[in-house]
Amino acid sequence: MPLNERDYYKDKSEGSQQPRGSSSGNWSGCLVFVIVAIIVWIVLGARDCDVQDDTTTISPPTTPAPSPEPAPSPPLPEPAPVPTPSVKELKVHFIDVGQGDSILVDLGETEVLIDGGDREPGIVSYLKEHVDGPLEVMVATHPHADHIGGLIEVLETFDVEEIWHNGDTSTSKTYEDFMNCVDSEGAEVHIARLHNIIKASALSFYVHHPADLEGTQNNNSIVLHLGFGETDFLFTGDVEQEAEGAMMMLSSVRLPEVEILKVGHHGSRTASSEDFIAITKPAVAIYMAGKDNRYGHPHIEAIETLRTIGAEIYGTDNYGTIVVSTEGKTYTLRSEKNSIPDTIRTSSSPESTSQLAPEPIPPSEETATPAVQLPTEIVEISEPNVLITRDYKWIYQGEWSWTGEIPLFLYEYYQKIPRPPTKNYSVYVTHPLDDPYIDLLVEKIKKAAQQEGYTEFQNVEFAAAFVQSLPYTADSVTTPFDEYPRYPIETLVDNGGDCEDTSILLASIIDKLGYGTVLIMLPNHVGVGVKGGENIYGSYYEYKGNKYYYIETTGEGWKIGKLPDAYKGTKATIRPLVSVPVLTHEGRIEGSGFFAKVEITVRNVGTAPAYNVTVLAGFDAGNGMVWNSKESEPATIGVDQKLTVTLYLKIPLDKHTRLVVQIGMDNVLVEESYSDWFDT
Ligand SMILES: [Zn+2]
Repeated sequence: MPLNERDYYKDKSEGSQQPRGSSSGNWSGCLVFVIVAIIVWIVLGARDCDVQDDTTTISPPTTPAPSPEPAPSPPLPEPAPVPTPSVKELKVHFIDVGQGDSILVDLGETEVLIDGGDREPGIVSYLKEHVDGPLEVMVATHPHADHIGGLIEVLETFDVEEIWHNGDTSTSKTYEDFMNCVDSEGAEVHIARLHNIIKASALSFYVHHPADLEGTQNNNSIVLHLGFGETDFLFTGDVEQEAEGAMMMLSSVRLPEVEILKVGHHGSRTASSEDFIAITKPAVAIYMAGKDNRYGHPHIEAIETLRTIGAEIYGTDNYGTIVVSTEGKTYTLRSEKNSIPDTIRTSSSPESTSQLAPEPIPPSEETATPAVQLPTEIVEISEPNVLITRDYKWIYQGEWSWTGEIPLFLYEYYQKIPRPPTKNYSVYVTHPLDDPYIDLLVEKIKKAAQQEGYTEFQNVEFAAAFVQSLPYTADSVTTPFDEYPRYPIETLVDNGGDCEDTSILLASIIDKLGYGTVLIMLPNHVGVGVKGGENIYGSYYEYKGNKYYYIETTGEGWKIGKLPDAYKGTKATIRPLVSVPVLTHEGRIEGSGFFAKVEITVRNVGTAPAYNVTVLAGFDAGNGMVWNSKESEPATIGVDQKLTVTLYLKIPLDKHTRLVVQIGMDNVLVEESYSDWFDT
């Protein structure tokens, strides 16, 4: 039996090292056991506010001679305005542009346009009804006229902030006009490549294709995955089976299972291979084609493939514009023409949803198309927008109150996501889904501060006073866990928390207010640092040449720069608010005969992509050695994405051993887990 050196990664990272999760499961006669590292991590988590950190230490704070507090402005504050946040519902419009593609992704005031159909019929009038302010992002999947033609007028009409295209060129007049408009728009222009992430407020589109421009113009189309809560969309442009194959072959990125697939290349038989559809498992497939188009799209072969997996199939040729609405957990469809069953569909793996199979009668090539039905009005299916109401009261140069209305789905979303196994709490601050809501809160704070004529310093004090007024609650009282860091939305709804919760909330607010901020990790405690100049007095920590003044968040009356006595002279770790990847993993092993099949799923629950992720599995041979280890190829895992790796290991005979699983990122060991010991 070959005995290999256990391939430990060298820990040289700052900040990416995570608690070692040792895990166990059952191994009964070569059956199945399950390793769940993340649960074990939670169990291992220490006491309330336990934040012993392992990385950079910063010199103790300096406390210059006390000096006058900033002059208070005259009291008499008015009650704070009451924010009325709107629930963020995502709407994806598959716009009927005849033979062509145009998709508008609309989240509140953020809009992303993928393709614009041909010059005719144009989409500007449709967009005007839905686009608030500028168009944040425009994506041109490839330079064919039925995709970019309509974008020309959009560029002429709207202020477009960011443009993504695939870098492919064409000699057509349409392409020339389009690029001229792109050049004169003054937008940020990017070439989309595999692994890029296109961001627009809370929306993140993962680029699955192209890796480079090797294919035909269709096969070089940009393919985007958008996950919104549990609802997943895949936008495929005009890719055909060649590009589908390339995406499936990639070991580094798994294609997602999706709720909604924009069917490739207008439903052509050259796209939608059986394998591609079997992997992406769309519950709803939407093809975009013109009525009686000259290509005979959609082709019956593609429709049959989609039918076989039980997808509901709708086309813009028969249904006109189709709008998918989702709050992240469920979704509804409505159409301009004919009617799509108005069921509220649940987002999950497609097998588990009951197939309603509405038989949407795709036109076949042989039969004549039935007479056009009268367009019916678009009927909005109203979803109850459940809001949680919380009343907050605090004192800052007078009494303030605010009634917060927090979308229930957002709260439930944050409650449900596992706590990332890291003590780098910046991941809680940088999580994007609550940004629009925190923005609203911050707008209200700014407005109130403006009304009162607060200085910038008072502005921060005012925000701090709000957070400091939230009741202190220990985790073990409010949750089953001893340590349970909360996302800002949770702290607002739970109406308080402990030091890390309120620090995460305050850091989110100060960051959005536009001031530099960091988390200050002290032994068993967390506070917030706000970047300040020379004219502020109090305790500060120096980090990268800047002074961050300490703010205590757990009680009322703490001034900026006032460090609790217990922490005077104590070293702290400074956590800047940068996005970080955080990996969790779980796995199963099935053994039979000589081989064990080990399947490990690694998730990135952080806020930045994880590069060069590797999975190593082997059987523990003691003394840091493993038998028969195998390691996966390095792969990238995007935010909220997962990677499943299957490794076949030879089982060492007549040994007392256990399975060892190690997850590496950029050659650093970030997670490790073990099964129970067993005999082979
Ligand atoms: Zn096309």
